[in-house]
Formats: sequence, structure tokens, C-alpha cells
Amino acid sequence: MKTKELSLDKKSNASTAITKDVTCPFCGILCDDLVIQNQNNKLKVIENGCSKAIEMFQKELPESSAQIKGKNVSLDDAIDSVCKILKKSHTPLIAGLGTDVSGIRNVMELADKTGAILDHMHGNGLIRNTLVLQDLGWIMTTMAEIKNRADLVIFAGTDATNFSRFYERVIWNKESMFKLKNDDRQIVYIGANLNSKPGINPNGKRPTVLDCETEEIGEIISSLHALVAGATLDVNEVAGIKVKTLQTLAEQMKTAKYGVIVWAPGELDFPHAELTIQNFCETVKYLTRFTRFAGFSLGGNDGGMTANSVCAWQSGYPLRVNFNKGYPDYDAYRYSTHNVLKNKEVDSLLWISSFSSNINTPHASIPTIVMGMPDTKLKFKPDVFIPVSTPGIDHTGQIIRTDSVVSLPLKKVRTSPYASVPSVLNQVIERM
Ligand code: SF4
Repeated sequence: MKTKELSLDKKSNASTAITKDVTCPFCGILCDDLVIQNQNNKLKVIENGCSKAIEMFQKELPESSAQIKGKNVSLDDAIDSVCKILKKSHTPLIAGLGTDVSGIRNVMELADKTGAILDHMHGNGLIRNTLVLQDLGWIMTTMAEIKNRADLVIFAGTDATNFSRFYERVIWNKESMFKLKNDDRQIVYIGANLNSKPGINPNGKRPTVLDCETEEIGEIISSLHALVAGATLDVNEVAGIKVKTLQTLAEQMKTAKYGVIVWAPGELDFPHAELTIQNFCETVKYLTRFTRFAGFSLGGNDGGMTANSVCAWQSGYPLRVNFNKGYPDYDAYRYSTHNVLKNKEVDSLLWISSFSSNINTPHASIPTIVMGMPDTKLKFKPDVFIPVSTPGIDHTGQIIRTDSVVSLPLKKVRTSPYASVPSVLNQVIERM
């Protein structure tokens, strides 16, 4: 398929390029069907972008400069200053990690060279899943499997609206491989304040909603697990939900042809939420005695799935790894950004964010380097700031989707004056 069309408006001398099949890197579901117009380096989403994609692609490139302590400097001087800080540092923290596969590969090399600790800006959500996978394992599915096969989708603690096109791309399909019709698909929500409107099917069929506190979702799922296993519950209600309602849902789960429990680990933000995720996964496993059932995790924003996967490929461990001992030392709690800063286990910070400019960069009283989007909003002046370009808009790359089975190519759709994270890190590594 032709992916790029160029035309020249002779009167205005303006050039216009249309790029098809563009992958959007601005949330973990990585829609790969955007059509982007570039007119004189100004972008417009012509087809298929949600409001977030439109905002991020159409945002003009602001003027920015590398800075040392708030003063504009050349990129070269800024990189020298980064090297000085990292050479002096005993244990740097390299965090944020909002970059693509090449960027994370370079982060790994730099961490090995400098004895750094690594964590992602969405590390709290990531480890909730990791702990479950490490403890008891899980059975997970993909976006394509849900789209083509799932006749029962249970949203637990999320309504998926932070992933705007999830319903359009996965749930309400014009066509599916196995002739699954929208009316054949049952949607269920379990949790607090969930927006169930997107779960109304195109023919008006409403979803089932079990309204309970987020912290009570685990109790509901455990009860469903017990009912599926044939137990009787000696109460009338669980977390405010009638046992009769739970019995009906348990029966639906057993008789579904392909059921899925969907959760977003970043939205299950309460102590020991990994135990709730473990409940989802154990219930799924039990259900596979009767039918096909699987879990699905919605997350991976800001390159979270990419950072976790590359770290696991290269070190054998997921994120929250310390390279200071000469070998990778993994600890999901000890090496969180919050804990290593609070416990003064690190003496410099390198923060990377090339997909978002509004991320809350930690402000610690240690030398701090920020590699961020040119319009990054900071509440403090870091020792070094380097504006970086965005993968998927300003340079090509690879990024891993929330279901971790697909690595998607990122295209360059405009020209940016800013260096990419991989190239800046490369120069840092060469000068160290
Ligand atoms: S839903 Fe996510 S990946 Fe899709 S267009 Fe919107 S921000 Fe991009």
C-alpha cells in the first residue's frame, strides 16, 4: 500500500505529505491506523485519532534549548555536563523512562556503565502485574483475540476510557474473524464510578454493572470464583451486591465461549492491589476447566511496556533493577523511585520523558538531569535540561503494545530540531 503522498501547491509553494498507517504512541493500545497530514511541518490528524492523539500530533513544536542551571547552552555542553554528573555519582537513578526500544537499550547500557537503578514513571502499576506473574503465573490474551472471539468481557476496576479507542478498535467491531456479532457480546463492569456508557452496544443493549468500592472488587471476584467452583455463599450480599446477581454472572462466566477479565493496574491504586489482580488471574485459571477464559491488562503508557520488556530481555529481570553491585539486583519495592529518593540510596537523577510534557518529575536535592519534551513543565530548575524529540512523530522507532505481544514500528512524520533520546544517550555513553 502506498503510505506517503506528496503534493505541491504551486501558488503558495507549500508542500503537503500524507502518511497512512501511522502508529500513535500516546497510550498503550498503540492504534496503528492514523492518517497524518504534514503541511510545511505542521501536522494534522486526518483520520482515526482520538482527542489525545489530535492534541499531541497537532501541537506545534515549541522553541526550546538545552540548559545548564536554567541558562541556555549548546547540546554539546549539556551532554558534557550530564557526563560530569554521572561520573561523580556513585549510584544514579535513571527513571521516567518514557522512550522507545532503542532509547531503553541505551538506558540499559548506561545503567550498566554507571551502576544505576532503573524505574519507570508508571512503575507502581507495572509491579502490581509483575508480582502476580512472578508468584503464580497467569493466562493472558491479546487485543486481536478479544476482538475476534470474546463473548463476555468483564471490566474490573476500569472502564477503559483512559484508552479512548479501545471500544472502537476492540469491543464494538464492524466485523470479526469468527462472525462474532455485537449482540453476542456481554459486557460487565465491576467497581466504583465506572462510566458504563461505552459498554452499551450499537443496538442499545446495556451492560451489567456491579457497583462496589474499588477495594472490594477482589471480594466480588473471590465470591465469583467460589460460585464457579460450586460453593454456596452463606450470605445474602457481598460488598453490597446480591448473591443472586453473582450466581447469574458466575453461570455466564462458565457458559461463555471466550471470557476475558480486563483490568488497568495503574487504576487499582490501593495498598496490595496485586492481591486483587491475583484474584482475577486465579479465577481465570479455574474457569479454563469449563471454557476459554483469559486476562487482559490495560496499561503501558509512556513506553511502560517497552521499558519493562527490554529490561527483562537484557537483564533477566523486569524493572526496578539496581546495576550498582556489578550484576542486576531486582527489588520491586526497594528500588521504586519514591523509596530510593526517600532513603537516599541514589545521588543523582536522570529523568526521561519523550511522550508527555506534564509528568510530575520528582524534585530531589541531588543533581538532576531532565531529558524531556521541549514544552516540559517543571516546578524547579534541573542542573541540566535537554529537550528531546518524540518517537513516532519526530523520529522512527519501535514500541511495545499493552498486551506485550506486538512491537509496532513508529514513523517520522515531521522534522524536529531536537535530538532523540537514543542519540543523546549514545553520545553520553561514548563520552563516559
Ligand atoms: S486511543 Fe491511545 S493510541 Fe489510540 S489514538 Fe488515542 S492516544 Fe493514540
